[in-house]
Amino acid sequence: MIRLKNESQLALMRDAGRITGEAILAAGEAIKPGATTAHIDKVIKAYIEKCGAHPTFLGYGGFPASACVSVNDEVIHGIPSHERVLVEGDIVKIDVGATYRGYTGDSARTFPVGKVSPEAEQLIRVTRESFYEALAVIREGARVGDIGNAVDSYCRRFGYSVVRRYVGHGVGAELHEDPEIPNFGRAGHGIRLIRGMTIAVEPMVNIGTHEVYEMPDGWTVRTKDGSLSAHYEHTIAITENGPELLTKVD
Ligand code: MG
Ligand code: MG
Repeated sequence: MIRLKNESQLALMRDAGRITGEAILAAGEAIKPGATTAHIDKVIKAYIEKCGAHPTFLGYGGFPASACVSVNDEVIHGIPSHERVLVEGDIVKIDVGATYRGYTGDSARTFPVGKVSPEAEQLIRVTRESFYEALAVIREGARVGDIGNAVDSYCRRFGYSVVRRYVGHGVGAELHEDPEIPNFGRAGHGIRLIRGMTIAVEPMVNIGTHEVYEMPDGWTVRTKDGSLSAHYEHTIAITENGPELLTKVD
């Protein structure tokens, strides 16, 4: 069931989205060689709570932290750790949710740690650009397949593959609502986007195979071939004036 949001619900989504986006910016300032992934999680939790919001991921399905922090070949759902120290050349994915007055924003971004390889830099850039390729087709009446097709066809031009096992989703009163928003698909197919929908579009892009596996910790997802992976996500409202990015603050 797709839950459409009215104007007052959208206003709350904007607040939750702004807090989510700002928490990611705060994380970005803490990312440097020598920082632990647990420290970054602490910065995010503190920021969200300072805003009077709740870190949505904390305890979600039993997740033990406020943010997913995933390094290099870790795709998503990395568990922050005091033992995981970032080093120059790493790429780190920060995925955050903030719930404010009952509504949730969901956003992710990939940061370089110090100076990274040209391959890593390109992957981060193309992953972000693939999101904006999708954004360009998002409007009332477009289809979910148009989004996936835009992401996938753009990434293929660079020889990359998009993760298929995990997908974007509706978001609002719940972190995960209908419909699913895959990063692949056929243009002109799938559910039609209508005014009042709020969706998280989130390309997860690998340099190598699209295949991934889950670590024995029950959370961390890694690329099967050990290749680098990047992630970029915003929460988007479908409005009569086009798509509105709710989690973008910079
Ligand atoms: Mg997310
Ligand atoms: Mg999401």
